[in-house]
Amino acid sequence: MRVCMPNSGIEIFEAVKSRHLAPFDGSLRVASNPTVPPDDYSLGKKAAKEELASCVAQLREQQRMLYADNKWAVLLVFQAMDAAGKDGTIRHVMSGINPAGCQVFSFKQPSTEELEHDFLWRTSKKLPERGRVGVFNRSHYEEVLVVRVHPEYLKSQNLPHIPDLNHLWAERLASIEQHERHLARNGTVVLKFWLNVSREEQRRRFLSRLEEPDKNWKFSTSDVRERGHWDEYMAAYEEAINTTSKPWAPWYAIPADDKRYMRLAVARIVLASIETLNLGYPEVDNKTRDRFAEMRQLLEDEQ
Ligand code: ATP
Ligand code: MG
Repeated sequence: MRVCMPNSGIEIFEAVKSRHLAPFDGSLRVASNPTVPPDDYSLGKKAAKEELASCVAQLREQQRMLYADNKWAVLLVFQAMDAAGKDGTIRHVMSGINPAGCQVFSFKQPSTEELEHDFLWRTSKKLPERGRVGVFNRSHYEEVLVVRVHPEYLKSQNLPHIPDLNHLWAERLASIEQHERHLARNGTVVLKFWLNVSREEQRRRFLSRLEEPDKNWKFSTSDVRERGHWDEYMAAYEEAINTTSKPWAPWYAIPADDKRYMRLAVARIVLASIETLNLGYPEVDNKTRDRFAEMRQLLEDEQ
């Protein structure tokens, strides 16, 4: 659905309903948020694969119209603990889209140049243009997640004045909320996915990275260290999601212990969201259409 922004009359996108939509009243509780598919989910492997393929095909078509229409941009933000499956989800859901219409950016430890700027600078530079789908593999949210868990990282950010830390996080979250509101008012559909993997499933996936030679490259000793801060990360996620899940920039908390379910859930939400824009191919005006016969004749005469 497209709705008007409160008090402005500007038409914006509005979040599609889903059992995974993070409520807008700040009531998401990480402790009770599911990491496994719902009980009533019964799609077998084959059916899930077919539905994912169908979503991907429809997304490809929607993306073509998004590009032709050239008014909206779509930004997909992925955040998760290590080994939750961000990369695989992005790969599977985006696999059908014309590479020219989709840009994926990964945000890791900031560079010296990035640290010389405000914390929204590096992600702002990579925002999708109109007609494109942009994917952020990690994002500006790292500034209220990993940096919150490791406030010592703030030292390298050279801020002129670091207030009480609780104020700092609250202000950063307010900046993010305003930034996304600004994007929404200007035609960017912002969809945010938290891939919620359980601590136990992460342990299993790390073990398989150690045991299976073709997964060794994925293993990082720092991932195991970060796992030690699990509860602090969860508290940071909870506050970030609760403060910034808005009708115009929703968060979806996707159970991530079952990869097949997770990918399908993300694909369904992305597709349903873009469909609400009611995109179509732009129509050619009558004057131009009247010249088609003339143009056809010119082209045929060339032979
Ligand atoms: P994968 O492990 O699947 O390759 P990844 O996204 O975990 O992907 P890594 O290179 O392993 O990539 O890790 C990137 C690290 O950079 C993460 O631990 C992340 O928290 C950290 N990072 C991202 N943004 C910031 C930031 N603004 N400040 C400090 N650390 C950050
Ligand atoms: Mg990693």
